[in-house]
Amino acid sequence: MLKPLSLAPSFGFGDRLGLATLGHIAAVRDTKFAPIFAQQSVRENARTGRTPQQVMDEAQRAVDAAKWDDPWGADADHLKTLEDIPAFVEAGYTFFTIDPGAHVDNGADTDSAETLKRKVASLNWDELSALYLSGNGGQAWDSFDAQSLMRATVKYGRAIQHAVSMFERLSDLRDAFDFEVSVDETDSPTTPLEHFFIASELTRLGVKFTSLAPRFIGRFEKGVDYIGDLNALDAELEKHAAVTAYFGTYKLSLHSGSDKFSVYPLVAKYWAERIHVKTAGTSYLEALRVLASHEPDMFLKIYSLGRERYETDKRTYHVSAQLDLLPNTDDLPSLLNDFHAREVLHVTFGSALSQYGVALKAALVKHNNAYYDGLKTHFDKHLKLLKV
Ligand SMILES: [Zn+2]
Repeated sequence: MLKPLSLAPSFGFGDRLGLATLGHIAAVRDTKFAPIFAQQSVRENARTGRTPQQVMDEAQRAVDAAKWDDPWGADADHLKTLEDIPAFVEAGYTFFTIDPGAHVDNGADTDSAETLKRKVASLNWDELSALYLSGNGGQAWDSFDAQSLMRATVKYGRAIQHAVSMFERLSDLRDAFDFEVSVDETDSPTTPLEHFFIASELTRLGVKFTSLAPRFIGRFEKGVDYIGDLNALDAELEKHAAVTAYFGTYKLSLHSGSDKFSVYPLVAKYWAERIHVKTAGTSYLEALRVLASHEPDMFLKIYSLGRERYETDKRTYHVSAQLDLLPNTDDLPSLLNDFHAREVLHVTFGSALSQYGVALKAALVKHNNAYYDGLKTHFDKHLKLLKV
């Protein structure tokens, strides 16, 4: 049954090819996670040439075929403008992820005191300073002084206003829905104090959000494990968890959530059931793994196109793979375990699909058992470490 999932632990399975849901169902069955089977961002739709309705229909077909009777959700991912909303509402999406990143003022991190003062003048500063500088003592995640409050206000003030507008528009169009606010693609990490500020302001302004996705320290790149100091991340997550526990009203959402095997035990430790994990391109990489084993010629064409397109296609992603470090092609299946190859193939999916999409999908239909098994194995690894 397609419905809002509210605070149930949830796992988002993006499926850019429309052929992965049966494998996703196999992995998520008998876990405590409520699944999102239809999940696509505006950026992904542009690159795959699919509409919100098509994504929904393909997920629905698999749900019917597998006789999945439990709740599931559909995530309109990374919606940036009011105009992005209607097509997803009409197609019956239940979960709306708002990305107000374009309204985040990344300069705030380094602005001088004078610049900050000038900028906050138009941002409701009197009310905010009365609210947040009243000296209610330090919290586990730190507390504001005038300077840090100004920075948070300048950095996120307009983004919060935009999230409020998006929420209000959705409330006009739908009765019940999951609402997520994501700032995971901003230039700099969200500090625990900024996380507190965002959650507090959204709450104060009447936004009923089910999940929030901060940007954490270190690097959460697409389709690969965490890059950074795990001990530092552990200490930082503890503070973020104190913020979510303080409100107790929303889930922590982990974007670019696939393949972060070293991070899942920390997420499980701090949030247990109050989590949403979002994955997308990793299912596409599993599709390429099937090709690497069963259709090597087609795989090699996609790989060489990926090399050509990487520098261009990577621009809207946080990735750090280098073309000159790509492995040779002696052992194709194991190539899908290589950091650089994974990222290159991951961000060039749009180019690959526009050139080889029809043949790729036909190959997956032909080798559907291998794709199904690969997806199940891959996501079992994720879900086991998250052990909700
Ligand atoms: Zn994201």
